[in-house]
Amino acid sequence: MDLNAEVITNVEAELKAQLGNAVQVRDAKSLSGVSINDAWALETSAGRFFLKTNAADRHPSRFVAEAADLALLANAKEPRTPKVIATGEADGTAWLLLEFITTKAWTAEADAALGRGLAKQHRHSQPLYGLDRNNWIGLLPQDNTPTADWTTFFMQHRLAPLVRMARDHQRINDGDVLRFERLYAALPDLLPQEKPALLHGDLWHGNALNTADGVVVVDPAAYYGHREMDVAMAGLFGGIGPDFLVAYNNEWPLEPGWEGRMDLCRLYPLLVHLNLFGGGYSEKVSEVLRRYV
Ligand code: ADP
Repeated sequence: MDLNAEVITNVEAELKAQLGNAVQVRDAKSLSGVSINDAWALETSAGRFFLKTNAADRHPSRFVAEAADLALLANAKEPRTPKVIATGEADGTAWLLLEFITTKAWTAEADAALGRGLAKQHRHSQPLYGLDRNNWIGLLPQDNTPTADWTTFFMQHRLAPLVRMARDHQRINDGDVLRFERLYAALPDLLPQEKPALLHGDLWHGNALNTADGVVVVDPAAYYGHREMDVAMAGLFGGIGPDFLVAYNNEWPLEPGWEGRMDLCRLYPLLVHLNLFGGGYSEKVSEVLRRYV
């Protein structure tokens, strides 16, 4: 697959504007292992950059949101995020240009660094849950309507829209829809209140990269929420080892009983996967629900 010529021209112009001298893109290598967007390693006369592209009409403003999420997380300093160079649109293709992150193998030290860094990031707070704008989680829109309490936010802006979507596409049975209704009523007793914490929002191991200078996180779906959401997601798909939790709890202990709430928090990423991929995720959602209601 070739990278769109107009995108290359745009990227060269943007790099020239930022760096002050003419920049040529010499090569664009398509990177494998990217699930949603196309990704490229760009070799340029000013060094290597990471470029993501997609069809602008299918994902309107997606990369603008991602750039803003990365900038928001960059304020927290830890864990580090790739520097955003620019976003744009050319010939129906949206693009996002980032610093290229050179990775090395994931290690137990990386687990610990991620745990420590994430706890520090979670110290960043604002008065309301949500965010001043919406963004995306995977291919699905994510509604960040600012809300005063976590249980209302979790129910109205995380679980309920995805339960409705799954029901409309016959991906969830009526019994589980009713179980979700019972869960909503039980949420205030199940979840401890905490200050809104700045979340990565999509923290699975594929979005945490190890480098010579420490851990870097990519591809956020940021908002202010309950910090157990990130911790739970980090443990959902494997790949992040036990030192992560040890380091997190050393830096900022989770509220007592957190282990018992992990699967409750995981209902959100599980519903995302159910809506995107269907399949066995409905059984997993059902199994988790039965444990709580
Ligand atoms: P998508 O939104 O399509 O899931 P990601 O942003 O998660 O794409 O990127 C996919 C993969 O590309 C990541 O898992 C990582 O391996 C690699 N990657 C992401 N950002 C960078 C970057 N700035 N530099 C180098 N590799 C990156």
